[in-house]
This record gives sequence, structure tokens and C-alpha cells, in this order.
Amino acid sequence: MTTMKAAVVPQLGAKLEVRELDVPTPGPGQVLVKMEASGLCHTDIHAAHGDWPVTPNPPFIPGHEGVGIVTEAGPGAVLHKPGDRVAIAWLGYACGHCDQCVSGWETLCLSQRNSGYSIDGAYAEYALADDRYVVSVPDEVSSFDAAPLSCAGVTTFKAIKIAGLQPGETASIVGIGGLGHLALQYAHVLGARVIAVDVEDAKLDLARALGADYTVNAKTTDPVQAIADHGGADVAVVTAASARTFEQAYASLRRGGRLVCVGLPADDKITISVFDTVLNGKSVIGSIVGTRKDLSDVFALHAAGRTRVIAEPRQLQDVNACFDEVLSGHIPARLVFTF
Ligand code: NAD
Ligand code: ZN
Ligand code: ZN
Repeated sequence: MTTMKAAVVPQLGAKLEVRELDVPTPGPGQVLVKMEASGLCHTDIHAAHGDWPVTPNPPFIPGHEGVGIVTEAGPGAVLHKPGDRVAIAWLGYACGHCDQCVSGWETLCLSQRNSGYSIDGAYAEYALADDRYVVSVPDEVSSFDAAPLSCAGVTTFKAIKIAGLQPGETASIVGIGGLGHLALQYAHVLGARVIAVDVEDAKLDLARALGADYTVNAKTTDPVQAIADHGGADVAVVTAASARTFEQAYASLRRGGRLVCVGLPADDKITISVFDTVLNGKSVIGSIVGTRKDLSDVFALHAAGRTRVIAEPRQLQDVNACFDEVLSGHIPARLVFTF
């Protein structure tokens, strides 16, 4: 039995511990993946802190942007074989036969299990995954880039699709972190005008470099007024983890505008006006990650050179310092553990 390093949340709100654990053996329908890159999504911080109405059960291993090589396939795992490079995303398992699963909405399956939340995830040198729910990574996409695409990418790709964003419309992207820096690129690829909103000037410089037409620093400028000055937004995709930003984004919509809620703030409640929603024909939409097909599309777009992943490598042993870095806001868009 060989061992592996894994970052474990021993209890909610506690520091993570990097432990030496036995490498697990794949059961029926599972593959064992040797990690090459594992992204740090803000969700992992919420998970470790127990920020949400449904919390994980410690001890657990976070991580749902895991990319690596299959080293072993368990009995009946026939879709992937040793040597294949795959991504482990948030949707670790779904039933495959409920109404949601068979109608292209596997991300809403009631029986789903989530990597790094209800099942051990990718903050480890090895992880088990369901053969049917890992997604193949094309040769043209590096593991380092594939990691952030596996959650930040697919989530915002789906959000932009669900918003029904049209060429020539204006999209505001609120929060230019891991998710937001990719959201703005998908909006740009679709031919929308893009307004990027963040509270850090460095994030706004990045947004401009990635194709944003306008930027707004919500710390120094009222974002509602600033977006109104640009004619308002047809679509607002909010990835910032603060309830107030959702209300501001809603207020910055034009008539017929769509607010897409993606960020999952610990302060969970927002107040909006029914009158405003009805009279102005606004929509409020929730969007949760994306399907395996969405992730394949995201990889294909990246392979075609349409998107750039902005990230810095880190070591798993520094996981607690990395959480602090993300919370400080002073990082390039994503941190990725490399092995
Ligand atoms: P991140 O920390 O990389 O990015 C958040 C960004 O928001 C940062 O750039 C920060 O500077 C900015 N920000 C903070 N306060 C702001 C404000 N008041 N106005 C504008 N910008 C502000 O986080 P991330 O990994 O991109 O994740 C963002 C959120 O999305 C988290 O809550 C995460 O749990 C959630 N998430 C949701 C899904 C989903 O399927 N819906 C998937 C992944 C992540
Ligand atoms: Zn995520
Ligand atoms: Zn199902």
C-alpha cells in the first residue's frame, strides 16, 4: 500500500491539515486519478468554513478542479483507461435516470454527489472518481489550464448560456476572480459589450487585458450609477461572494435584463422589488456549474485559442496560506496546486 499527501478539513472552520493517507483503491465503476493540477475554487473555502445552509461532513478532502492521469480502473469502469487524462469536476456522481438527468440537467439531479463536498475531492496526490462523470481533457489543453476550466470555466460558460446573452447586448460581470475572468471572456466571445466590476484595480486591469470594454471599481464608484452611465446591463453575472453585489447588479439591469446568480455568499439573502421585476420585465436566474457536455465545450473553446486562463501555481502544503491569499483578493485570477 503506498501513501499520498492530501489536504483534509478536520472540522468546519479549522485550518486544513496536510496528511499522509493510504492511496485508495477504485471500487466498481471508479477510476483512480493521479493529480497533475488542482484548482482552488472559492467554493472550497466556503466548504471548509461551513458557510452554506448545507455543510459537508468533516473530515473531508476539498477540491473539484482536479486534473490528472487515470492510473487504475475498478471493475466495470470501461469509459476511461490507465493513461487517460481526465478532469474531476463538482458533479462527481448523478443517477443518470431521473427527469433532470435525462433532460440534460444532470447538474440538478437530486441524487448527485459533489467532489470535495460530499465525496473526497482533488486536494490530494490521488483521488477516486466515478468513471462516468470524469471528463476527458483534449491534448491541446494543459492540465494547469484545464483545472480552472473544470469549475470556474464551465460554471460561467453555462451562466452566460442560460442568460441567453446575444451579440450586441451589454453584460456586466461582477467579481473578476477565478470565475469572473472566464465569464467575461465567454461574454466577449459571444459578441457582447462587457462591463467588468471588482473592488481591486489589479483585477480590473486584468479584465481590460482580457477584453472588457469598461471597468468599474465598486469600492470607489457607485456601480449602479456607473453601469447606468453606459446604458445599463442586459445581463449581469454575479460571481462576487457578497449579497450586496447581487442587489447592485439587479439595480443596474436595463428593461428585460437578466440577473444570473452564480456567487454563493455566506450572507445568503437579498431584497428585490417585485414591482420593479414585473414592470421592467427583469429575470432572476440561479445557475449551478455545468454538465459534462458543457465542460467538453469549454475545453474545445480553449483548445481553439478563444480563452486564456490566468493562474499561478502553488504547493498543496501551503493550502492555508493560499486560502488567505484568495480571501485577500490579491491574487491573479486563480491559484492551482501542482504536483
Ligand atoms: P474569487 O475569490 O476568485 O473571486 C471573487 C471576486 O470577487 C474577487 O476578484 C473579488 O475581488 C471580487 N469582489 C469581492 N467583493 C466584491 C464587490 N463588492 N464587488 C465586486 N467584486 C467583488 O472566487 P471564485 O472562485 O471566482 O468564486 C466566486 C463565488 O462563486 C464563490 O462564492 C463560489 O462559491 C461561487 N461558485 C459558484 C458556482 C456555481 O455553480 N454557481 C461554481 C463555482 C463557484
Ligand atoms: Zn468551484
Ligand atoms: Zn438524476
